[in-house]
Amino acid sequence: MINLILFGPPGSGKGTQAKTIVSKFGLTHISTGDLFRYEIGNDTPLGLKAKEYMDAGVLVPDEVTIGMLENKLNSTPNENGYIFDGFPRTIAQAEALDELLQSRGTKVTHLIALQVDEEELVVRLLKRGETSGRPDDRNEEVIRKRIVEYENKTSPVYEHYIPTNTAAKIDGVGSLEDVFNRIYDQLA
Ligand code: AMP
Repeated sequence: MINLILFGPPGSGKGTQAKTIVSKFGLTHISTGDLFRYEIGNDTPLGLKAKEYMDAGVLVPDEVTIGMLENKLNSTPNENGYIFDGFPRTIAQAEALDELLQSRGTKVTHLIALQVDEEELVVRLLKRGETSGRPDDRNEEVIRKRIVEYENKTSPVYEHYIPTNTAAKIDGVGSLEDVFNRIYDQLA
């Protein structure tokens, strides 16, 4: 079983790479950002709660996010495993994920961190904003806020996984195929 945390700042290519990895390894892709956007699209109470945080470029509270992730794991059992994209984003979320997986007799097997410098991220996200329909991709201030959130709250998650020998950093710049091959080398 592969339980891969695809890690990296907003715009580092996690969602794009996840699609290719899913098709090669038969994993289930869980993106908490996509789950929130689905809830927002359906005008659910959860979506309503998440929207104000997302529009401001800050993290949705842990208890909301962890509860949603647990529901998704329960409703999509997959013996091959999962790609976690955009989760965990805090140490509390990492601890919750470790417990959720442990209670299912498994664990995080890989964390792969895509590295892309900040100015490249801003360029990529503004470009994505032209077509993504995501309000948080259209405003440079919100984009920079998301990157600051990542640095302050999310980057420590990498250190959390160092003792388990699962964490690796790879260069996230290059063609889709080049980056995928770097990921593949880590999973093989
Ligand atoms: P993403 O699609 O991963 O870029 O996420 C978009 C936004 O959704 C983030 O800026 C957060 O506001 C929210 N979000 C997504 N995943 C999480 C998470 N694991 N914890 C808290 N907030 C999240």
